[in-house]
Amino acid sequence: MSVENNTNEESKKSLNFIEIIVEKDLAEGKNEGRIQTRFPPEPNGYLHIGHAKAICMDFGIAQKYGGVCNLRFDDTNPTKEDVEYVDSIMEDIQWLGYHWKNVYYASDYFPQLWDFAVQLIKSGKAYIDEQSSEEIAKQKGTPTQPGTHSPYRDRPIEESLDLFQKMNQGLIPEGAMVLRAKIDMANPNMHFRDPIIYRVINYPHHRTGTTWKAYPMYDFAHGQSDYFEGVTHSICTLEFEVHRPLYDYFVDELKQLRPEDGEYRTRQSEFNRLNLTYTMMSKRKLLQLVQEGLVSGWDDPRMPTITGLRRRGYTPEAIHKFIDKIGYTKFEALIDIALLEHAIREDLNAKAKRVSAVIDPVKLIITNYPEGKVERMEAVNNPEDESMGTHEIAFTRELFIEREDFMEDAPKKFFRMTPGQEVRLKNAYIVKCTGVKKDAAGNIEEIYAEYDPQTKSGMPESNRKVKGTLHWVSVEHSIPAEVRLYDRLFTVENPSEEKDKDFRELLNPDSLVVKTNARVEKELENSKPFDNFQFQRLGYFNVDPDTKNGKLVFNRTVSLKDSKNKL
Ligand code: ATP
Ligand code: MG
Repeated sequence: MSVENNTNEESKKSLNFIEIIVEKDLAEGKNEGRIQTRFPPEPNGYLHIGHAKAICMDFGIAQKYGGVCNLRFDDTNPTKEDVEYVDSIMEDIQWLGYHWKNVYYASDYFPQLWDFAVQLIKSGKAYIDEQSSEEIAKQKGTPTQPGTHSPYRDRPIEESLDLFQKMNQGLIPEGAMVLRAKIDMANPNMHFRDPIIYRVINYPHHRTGTTWKAYPMYDFAHGQSDYFEGVTHSICTLEFEVHRPLYDYFVDELKQLRPEDGEYRTRQSEFNRLNLTYTMMSKRKLLQLVQEGLVSGWDDPRMPTITGLRRRGYTPEAIHKFIDKIGYTKFEALIDIALLEHAIREDLNAKAKRVSAVIDPVKLIITNYPEGKVERMEAVNNPEDESMGTHEIAFTRELFIEREDFMEDAPKKFFRMTPGQEVRLKNAYIVKCTGVKKDAAGNIEEIYAEYDPQTKSGMPESNRKVKGTLHWVSVEHSIPAEVRLYDRLFTVENPSEEKDKDFRELLNPDSLVVKTNARVEKELENSKPFDNFQFQRLGYFNVDPDTKNGKLVFNRTVSLKDSKNKL
């Protein structure tokens, strides 16, 4: 896979290929002009940015063509599923700005699926196989070699019916038998080689409890669930393309039993998954990161989950912009995470209030500034949006500046603070460093400077040419904060491809750096979790929900500029 960091221009100009299919179906009057989609997550984890791509497609198509989109939980494997995931999925979809018509569960259809399976057995199109899954796999053959028939393939219908009942009564241990569709062991499409359609799971289901012991497999549940609901366009990712003939096969079988449904059909279409550099999308692996404490939870701001991105300071608008940019195609690709970062930067540039914060503070004393004097300097909230107005920031004799903005023996091109060189303090005066105080170990404790009273913003002398502008906060009029700086979660571009390495070894040890001594201007005192800001010169930051009892915690959403070659 190559990394794509150009946008999919085609998708901007014209309809995407799914929209073309939908418009053609509408023009042909299929399904009486009805458009119905569904988003079908398995509630076995939190949604990630890849799911957002599917959500924008499923809900977007319904919105655009006046149809409906339902949320359907694909809850056919109770061992991995939980209501915690159901709740989080609903929250995340709504946060992205979408509304489903109905909430359905594949488990709602267990009785109908059961009846359908019984019908298949009765018509000789399914049988109970008592072989182990390993034996069954061995008989599958290869795409160029036909498989071999199971010794149970032609067992009497009555026997299969009886065993199928027993599978569901808890009389059969897990793995001891399965129900298989009897189709074609020589079919070039491996999915037709007598696929397993029911298995035994002895584990309570989060909705149906212990009612069922026999559970339908994905291929036996998905298409039929679409059909029961009246889905017209079943949109999914490319890996299901090879399942589509089987999807159609079961729907056709089902239609034969329901002539009253007339011409109605559900049609599956597939688009490319989202894969992002320096990220992993597998729910199984994300769950491992959470369970092993390698991240703080599903909402850790380094996670590619929707809840993680939200906590990181991402907005739904930025996610939509990103998804629009990458578009939908039929080709798998790896998308540069810089594109996602670009989208949030662009969105916050337009929206975020500019404030001052010093992450690694050192004291700067303006020795010729009167003690006790406080000046209120006017700070523009957002130069991109005048309507956001201004706020005041207090200027005093003692300030904090960023430690890295000072250098005692500076090279020529260092335009920040160094003895004898003038620099501008943003929204305030031009100052010149006169000396420093160090501790016994040589660490700088205080920096001294003098200000020029004629250089306050707006005064004639303020136009004097100085090369550097520094941000600052007043010692007395700032408040403490913790700032969490994030970097990529993985050190390699495509961690999923490093098959010979444990993915945990690929984690970036510096993906989180916590700064506990930061200072922010008082203006931020009453900010609320998830509020977004631009810290001048530093990047975009938002308030973390860990903020409690006035102890502010900020996350760096993204730096001001792309720093992708940093690692
Ligand atoms: P797992 O990681 O366990 O394989 P999944 O990613 O398939 O799970 P589902 O809950 O089955 O997750 O996915 C719900 C829907 O989201 C499916 O239609 C699936 O095709 C789509 N989807 C999942 N991952 C991506 C992705 N990376 N990009 C686009 N769509 C995705
Ligand atoms: Mg899946």
